[in-house]
Amino acid sequence: MEYQIAADSLKDRVILVTGAGDGIGRQAAISYAAHGATVILLGRTVSKLEAVYDEIEAQGYPQPAIIPLDLSGATKQNYLDMVETIESQFGRLDGVLHNAGLLGVLSPLDQLGEETFDDVIQVNVKAQLLMTQAILPLIKKAKDGRIVFTSSTVGHEGRAFWGAYSISKFATEGMMQVLADELSNTNVRVNAINPGGTRTGMRAQAFPAEDPAQLKTPADIMPLYLYLMAPEGRDVHGQCIDAQPKRKPGAAS
Ligand code: NDP
Repeated sequence: MEYQIAADSLKDRVILVTGAGDGIGRQAAISYAAHGATVILLGRTVSKLEAVYDEIEAQGYPQPAIIPLDLSGATKQNYLDMVETIESQFGRLDGVLHNAGLLGVLSPLDQLGEETFDDVIQVNVKAQLLMTQAILPLIKKAKDGRIVFTSSTVGHEGRAFWGAYSISKFATEGMMQVLADELSNTNVRVNAINPGGTRTGMRAQAFPAEDPAQLKTPADIMPLYLYLMAPEGRDVHGQCIDAQPKRKPGAAS
């Protein structure tokens, strides 16, 4: 399917992007800003967030904001404070892209360390739950609210050695479905994206021997990311959509 939206489709929308300093999140933040959104850049490495901020400003897109937050240690109170900051600064929140993620260590399940499991579940699942709980009152006030989660091919089909990461992405899809069902009679649309193999640091960590040139770039997969945040995607709800539906999962040959 071709996902197309108008050039100014996200005008006046305030969109929070987690993991906005690098990889897919960085590109999503820039693409949302390019379509008129005020983006809130959330991540744990301030220098990377500042570089994205500068790039958005240099292009003349709406002035973004930065929220430094490490999701591995963030508490419920941190998320409540975050929402208070967003509400006082912008008065609204129209969309959230839950993008930040941790791969962890790939290993057979019987050797999966408890610490790796806890870290990955904390960042990929619990942080999204706590953040979603905190933002719901504000996003429900939006005329056309959006919550977009990030899954993976191993979030609906288990694969040997992908242990904690795969389990966390199954949980992400479950959270998306539960929330979508609960919000079906509201103005908030809830979906997930499976990016498919994409040229980023995380992908290189998972497949170090792969030629990155064989992979799509974050910019290549942006049409779906834009569509699910834009008025054009209003009718999509409760789905996990592949950004690269024709791609064969696993390492690129
Ligand atoms: P990257 O590793 O390139 O970027 C991940 C981002 O998340 C970084 O900005 C990173 O911050 C941030 N992040 C990680 N941990 C934390 C934390 N504790 N607190 C705050 N921010 C954090 O990954 P991708 O861009 O490849 O992945 C983006 C999403 O897409 C993830 O959810 C991933 O699981 C998913 N995905 C990616 C695929 C791919 O092929 N690339 C395929 C399928 C799914 P920092 O830069 O500071 O480390």
